[in-house]
Amino acid sequence: MIVDIHTHLFPPRLIAERARLAAADEAFGEMYADPKAKMATAEDLLASMDRAGVDVSVACGFWWSDPAIAAEHAAYLVEVARDSGGRILAFVPTPIPAEGAAGIGEVRERTPEGVPVSRLPVLIHGSEETGHAYPGKTGGVTPGAFGRLIEARPEARVIAAHWGGGFPFAALMPEVRASIAGRVIFDSAASAFLYTPEVFRRVIDLVGVEGVAWGSDFPLRTQEADRAYVEAAVPDETERAAVLGGNAARFLGLSR
Ligand SMILES: [Zn+2]
Repeated sequence: MIVDIHTHLFPPRLIAERARLAAADEAFGEMYADPKAKMATAEDLLASMDRAGVDVSVACGFWWSDPAIAAEHAAYLVEVARDSGGRILAFVPTPIPAEGAAGIGEVRERTPEGVPVSRLPVLIHGSEETGHAYPGKTGGVTPGAFGRLIEARPEARVIAAHWGGGFPFAALMPEVRASIAGRVIFDSAASAFLYTPEVFRRVIDLVGVEGVAWGSDFPLRTQEADRAYVEAAVPDETERAAVLGGNAARFLGLSR
């Protein structure tokens, strides 16, 4: 099973209103005010999945400041997931625990208190403490904040997006490795814009292959190109199958 654990969808109405929303919501504006920043609907994602041979995609919301917009976004994600026959899993914007949601995300809460208490997995936007600037980097969850968060919330099941901002080095500490085992998985979303392909080998060695899952960050990256990128970076067939879907399927409780 091929699973993309990190994509983004928006309802058509919010895409049509992007300029107004970008002016009203600072975080959204930072990432989507530029009309060249891609936004996608469920139809776009399903067509992409057909092209790229993806069985299941996790579709995330956005960290809106307006709860009404977040609720509208969540309702759309749940609806398209329900209509997708299991191909799309809805990760809804916090703090809406929508019926039919498979998870919560993408969030960028830096404090343990900010992360919603839920039985559902939470996808957290990691940010590096160094390196080049890009929209969405400022205000993300840095490795230190991420470490405090998972320490304070031992029950939380977490998808640490964008390689957890570089957190995996800490997994060489035995107590950290024990604390993340089975409940934290690191995704590769936007990796091609951040790191050299060696990051796949390095993180597999640091956290164990079972702790790594492919995320494309579609539509920022096409699933087709990003899947090919991962396949080139992870030549071993067993590891590749785990990263491209086996690990995500286990983490999300998927079967077929
Ligand atoms: Zn993100």
